[in-house]
Amino acid sequence: MVHRGLAVSPGVVIGTVMVLEDDIHRIQKRGIAEAQVKLEIARFDRAVKEAVAELQGVYQTARKEMGDEAAKIFLVHIGMLSDKRSFTVPVHAIIESERVTAEYAVSQVLGALAEKFQQSSDSAFSTKANDIEDLASRLMSHLVGRRESRLARAKPGTVVVANDLTPSQTAGIDRGKILGFATDLGGKTGHTAIVARALNIPAVVGCRSLMADARDGDTIVLDGDRGVIVLNPDARQQAEYSRYLDQRRVFQLSLTDLATLPATTSDGVEVELLGNIEFPEQAKEVVESGGKGIGLYRTEYLYLMSGTEPSERDHFMAYRKCVEMMKGRPVVIRTMDLGADKVVESRHGAPERNPFLGCRSIRLCLRDTPMFKTQLRAILRASALGPVKVMFPLITSLTELRRAKYILNDVMEDLAEDSIPFDRKVPVGMMVEVPAAALMADAFAREVDFFSIGTNDLVQYTLAVDRTNERIADLYSPMHPAVLILLRDIVKAARKHKRPVSCCGESAADLEYALLLIGLGLRTLSVSGTSIPSLKRLVRSVSIGQCERIARQALQFDSEPEVAAYLRDQARKIIPEAFDGRSVE
Ligand code: PEP
Ligand code: MG
Repeated sequence: MVHRGLAVSPGVVIGTVMVLEDDIHRIQKRGIAEAQVKLEIARFDRAVKEAVAELQGVYQTARKEMGDEAAKIFLVHIGMLSDKRSFTVPVHAIIESERVTAEYAVSQVLGALAEKFQQSSDSAFSTKANDIEDLASRLMSHLVGRRESRLARAKPGTVVVANDLTPSQTAGIDRGKILGFATDLGGKTGHTAIVARALNIPAVVGCRSLMADARDGDTIVLDGDRGVIVLNPDARQQAEYSRYLDQRRVFQLSLTDLATLPATTSDGVEVELLGNIEFPEQAKEVVESGGKGIGLYRTEYLYLMSGTEPSERDHFMAYRKCVEMMKGRPVVIRTMDLGADKVVESRHGAPERNPFLGCRSIRLCLRDTPMFKTQLRAILRASALGPVKVMFPLITSLTELRRAKYILNDVMEDLAEDSIPFDRKVPVGMMVEVPAAALMADAFAREVDFFSIGTNDLVQYTLAVDRTNERIADLYSPMHPAVLILLRDIVKAARKHKRPVSCCGESAADLEYALLLIGLGLRTLSVSGTSIPSLKRLVRSVSIGQCERIARQALQFDSEPEVAAYLRDQARKIIPEAFDGRSVE
């Protein structure tokens, strides 16, 4: 069975499905093999036993704190779970007769019971429905287990299938066991996808209905190059995939010699290729792939990966590691960009109605000056060790930029007072990733040392398309003429004020888009380490004049499909080997 989704992290793997259930209210009917029935019943019995033991503990505590009468409810729960006639026997029967998972059987039996209570005209009974809900949650948490621990228990050769994964769950994936993952939700530039690319984990997101068809133990082909999933492939599909993998290997091999060659166009212009990283360790891959520095260090992963707020020391150690690994090459450290799809449980608070338009990124920092200053101190201290640059994300107004710079100056004064070394002339830049900033690039260019264009957000805000929403993924297009016009104008403003401008959005790694960016005048592109070699191959295969002609022509179209088709056509002509085999299915 073939499913299609969004190709977000390249690589083709063949493995065994592990379904990661999440929402206990949406347990899907999932079949099991006949040989599995006994094990499934044992798993259910074990979960009941654990839940009863847990409830006994809760009952004892409640008795002490709330008295006998109030604690009785937990005895009722224990009674319900242990009731053979109305609960355990019917669950066993469903697992056996329908050959389904314990989760599904439990949801059926408890669901029917809750419905009975709800329909009762006696209010004493109808409120019991809530108790059942509570009981179901408790039991399910024992059956399903915490997602992180299920991921940690994965066997080698696993491909995870889930409704969604968070960026930090993705970052915690053990590559030794998990070959790749596919999710029903998600978009190409969501941070789950970005982390997958950064860590070289093949991934397909936005599959929409894969969870309904996949079962634990299925064989799965996950094609992260083309966004295709094949469940239980037949012989013909397997043969096609091995042919494609051969072609892929040949192309990858042809890139290995490029690392030491310059990224210079055929007419001798250098295009600086930098790396995007989330963790300092990734700096190594950037250097090995021939990257000339770090163009975007997404420091929010320091917060995402630890349950607590990082200390100045935590920040400093991470930045020092990165700066040392880069051995004199520049490192652009972006200040914390939390919020939207990068959330930390501890600062979760009340959910926002529109998190991408909410209190995220620089807005969060400007509302929490102590936290912001802690990070800035560490960045500045690291600037004494190598060529560090500071970059502020999501800048939307000059007031915001000025406040951020003011706080940075404050921190500089504190450090100077304490005689702590730092680079007084540390370059300060901003991301241009909101249309307001793009439209006012001329004014911003007077007040920063450099720009970095974040197409991931710029596209979402210009086109009003959530970058993580699979339902409208077809509308998320960096090729939209409105985006091209903004890019052209940002570069124009940067040139006028002689400010360097780079692009660090995911689109910079798309060969066809890179042609356009170079043609528009960009001379620095920052992409994940793995994308550097193919980008270098492209740079070495074109002249600036050629790229400029392509960009001029692309700006003439007024519909996104025309731009996309034209650029793809041009890229295919210039570097056909990168597209070989892409039509195989
Ligand atoms: C961007 O928005 O393009 C960008 C590089 O930042 P992030 O993906 O972290 O939002
Ligand atoms: Mg962004």
